[in-house]
Amino acid sequence: MEPPSQQQHQQHVVVCGGGVIGACTAYFLGKKGVRVTLVEKSAIACAASGKAGGFLALDMCDGSVLRGLARASFGLHQSLAEELDGESYGYRRIHALGLGIEEAKGAPGYLSKGHAKASVPAWVDGPVSGSAKPIGNPKTMAQVHPQLFTQAIFAKAVEKYGVSLVIGKVQEVKLAGNKVTGVVVDGEVIAADTVVVAMGPWSGENSLVSSLTSISGLKAHSIVVRPKQPDAISPYALFLTYRTKEGKVLDPEIYPRPRGEVYVCGMTEEVAVPDDPQQIIPRPEATAMLQRVAGTVSSVLAGAEIEVAQACFLPCSEDGVPVIGKIPNVDGAYVATGHSCWGILNAPATGASLAELIVDGVSTTVDLKPFDPLRFCIRASRSR
Ligand SMILES: Cc1cc2nc3c(=O)[nH]c(=O)nc-3n(C[C@H](O)[C@H](O)[C@H](O)COP(=O)(O)OP(=O)(O)OC[C@H]3O[C@@H](n4cnc5c(N)ncnc54)[C@H](O)[C@@H]3O)c2cc1C
Repeated sequence: MEPPSQQQHQQHVVVCGGGVIGACTAYFLGKKGVRVTLVEKSAIACAASGKAGGFLALDMCDGSVLRGLARASFGLHQSLAEELDGESYGYRRIHALGLGIEEAKGAPGYLSKGHAKASVPAWVDGPVSGSAKPIGNPKTMAQVHPQLFTQAIFAKAVEKYGVSLVIGKVQEVKLAGNKVTGVVVDGEVIAADTVVVAMGPWSGENSLVSSLTSISGLKAHSIVVRPKQPDAISPYALFLTYRTKEGKVLDPEIYPRPRGEVYVCGMTEEVAVPDDPQQIIPRPEATAMLQRVAGTVSSVLAGAEIEVAQACFLPCSEDGVPVIGKIPNVDGAYVATGHSCWGILNAPATGASLAELIVDGVSTTVDLKPFDPLRFCIRASRSR
């Protein structure tokens, strides 16, 4: 006779989407001993999770419903960095500053060496307007390379917890009555009793999600430049209020990375999300503007070679709050999306809490109530 543990049916969870949310969810489910298959249409971290800034903040979400999720995640990022060799994916503590920059009317004017404002790092020698606002220091701010982090945590999930990867497109979730029985991937059914939809801005393609709420995508651009003197750039994340000489106000961000490259992002626009993540093309004018921003802020970045020019979509929910939890009225169906501009930060606590909810019936890492998908049903019934 088989021992009792082998007689029990082993739960099989299919996680749909190999962005940072899917990868972290797979990792924490695997850690709890669950059998997990992750299905990704293209490649791990091929979309926003590979193209984001990777900025992490302990307290920038304080005062919003994200406070608990962000604080728990910031701590988990630190412990994951110890477990997964954070240096390999660019984890480090940093400073962050808010800065006003005003383009000069003529040629870019840099301060001469040694004359940078006392409140800003020496490499920021462009036209700073007003005083710099400290946002945080290495006690409260950190960064990762988001693609390398997502790939590292998923690789650990595979190696240590036996999580499987299937490359294919999730077409639908199979139900028997109101119970999940499998997931259809490129026409083939993968049997499963639990499914997690974590397909970022594509999550609304799943009918269980779209019947509940709408998920959209906001396009944003980024470039990665490699300055000739990377050692001149100290670890400061810059949040800019940037006025062009034509009078336009932009809000780009600049993140130097430990291996010498510098990431610059911004230039959002509302356009349709293409079906294939590989078809997300940056607009040349947006790329040029980000390069102009970099060269205006710092003479070290002026003329730096663009290594990567890219675009991706922030996953946005109807009410601006992530959607994390059980899909109402369907046994075994869960969703985790809508993390907008904080998905890299908030992925670890999302994955850990969702794994607890799925396996233990209750999440203890973070109270998931504010993110419960049930809120959309309650609102719909109130408005009737
Ligand atoms: C320019 C920019 C900068 C950012 N900077 C930061 C930052 O500094 N800090 C921070 O915390 N956050 C940042 N973010 C936000 C962060 O990138 C996102 O919140 C996060 O990456 C979302 O992760 P995700 O897993 O939900 O979605 P995605 O990364 O979009 O992943 C979804 C995955 O699902 C797959 N998929 C889609 N449809 C299917 C299907 N039918 N079948 C199988 N797979 C499918 C896709 O191929 C994709 O791999 C930034 C975002 C942008 C755009």
